[in-house]
Amino acid sequence: MDITDPDASISSAEPKPHRGLHQKVFVNRNLTLENIRCYGFDMDYTMAIYTSPDYESMGFEMIRDKMVSIGYPHEILRYTYDPSFPTRGLVIDTKYGNLLKVDSNGNILICSHGFRFLKGENIAYYYPNKFIQRDDTDRFYILNTLFNLSETYLYTCLVDFFTRCTRYTNQEKGYQHGDLFMSFRSMFQDVRDAMDFIHNTGALKDRTIKNLEKYVVKDPNLSVLLTRIKKVAKVFLATNSDYNYTEAIMKYLLETNVKSGSPKRLWHSYFDLVVVDTRKPLFFAEGTVLRQVDTNTGKLRIGTYTGDLQHGTVYSGGSSDIVCDLLHVKGKDILYVGDHIFGDILKSKKRQGWKTFLVVPELAKELQVWEERKNLFEELKLLDTFLAETYKHLDSGSKECPDISAIQTRIKVLTHRMDMAYGQMGSLLRSGARQTLFASQLVRYADLYSSTCINLLKYPLNYLFMAPPVLMPHESVSQPAAGLVSSELSEIVKITTS
Ligand SMILES: [Mg+2]
Repeated sequence: MDITDPDASISSAEPKPHRGLHQKVFVNRNLTLENIRCYGFDMDYTMAIYTSPDYESMGFEMIRDKMVSIGYPHEILRYTYDPSFPTRGLVIDTKYGNLLKVDSNGNILICSHGFRFLKGENIAYYYPNKFIQRDDTDRFYILNTLFNLSETYLYTCLVDFFTRCTRYTNQEKGYQHGDLFMSFRSMFQDVRDAMDFIHNTGALKDRTIKNLEKYVVKDPNLSVLLTRIKKVAKVFLATNSDYNYTEAIMKYLLETNVKSGSPKRLWHSYFDLVVVDTRKPLFFAEGTVLRQVDTNTGKLRIGTYTGDLQHGTVYSGGSSDIVCDLLHVKGKDILYVGDHIFGDILKSKKRQGWKTFLVVPELAKELQVWEERKNLFEELKLLDTFLAETYKHLDSGSKECPDISAIQTRIKVLTHRMDMAYGQMGSLLRSGARQTLFASQLVRYADLYSSTCINLLKYPLNYLFMAPPVLMPHESVSQPAAGLVSSELSEIVKITTS
């Protein structure tokens, strides 16, 4: 690391070269930073990290109050946001009102109805194959972003309330109240509409801007990172937020940290190109009309912008193709950093072949729990070995039928214990030995991932990120040597049969 780097003086604490687990960038596919000619950044939850759970609590209260204002019972005002319940990536079944956690194939890992967790036959009642056809996007809604956490929780509260309220009769697809029927689907739509209302009217943004210290995490290292990157590559910002909000947030993040005596630098100057109102994922396909933003008034100029890139100009709309043209770069030269698994990462990778960096703020907690509880995972792996041992001398001609119920029970107990260590809905990335839909998308579409984009500061900008070699099941089989597992297995046998 270049300790003479003048930009580092902006930072209150000089980043140390040593990378602890929480400062690491993790690698799914090899990537050489030296080949990256252009870095793109999303803003919300990527550069601007919202304070959790204060921000989600505010969103929850705003949509809860909106629901009451359109006629939902006042009793729901008693609910307050509980950050230990929702995780990102859950699925709402709008037909039966259930909240589901699924794997990449749509197999159900966890199912709750309100705050009641369904087990075995109760899950089978709704889903005979313990499976959902998640392509049915009309019925199943995936809560992909951190913005969705508050509505995930509000929907759960509503199902909890109406299920327990004696004025309403529980039915398969909703609730009956006198001659009124309220379906799970209409409740979901009302929550979505309330969410859109607080976003589209600017109500959530107004309250955020009024109290930036409370709701937005400011990291002085962001300006250091952007300055260093801009010396070796082009940098752009592409956000779905509008200009006025972007201006308020970016000013707060980049202009209010400057040490006294340092020359004042406008936030625009950290970027070669700023694009607001991008409407991702549409931005990565046909996009929308590109317009210039009048940065004095925040208003858009009429007509499509057709000129060359002008430094310091802010644009609205456009598409990823236009960004490549304006910056004279190809998709493969771009590393795009975002937090939205679908809108930022999946689409930029799948449609444009960009290199991708997924910001996963939850990773800080995931790493902490993993460190503390990975013994449970080790035990799960041992159970697998134990199962293999149990069947070692049996084949299709065998009449013997080993009793493995104790092992199955133990697997369930361990899985549940692991899940609970993360929160009521478990980990963002796994349930016991099985990975979630979110985890599989992360592995498939994000070349790199980390809890924050600031962790890029810990690596030289010509670094070769190498993915750890991953063995397929047939490659990872090793014949256990006799006696190798006997001591551990006998311990497991004791546990499972006690
Ligand atoms: Mg974002």
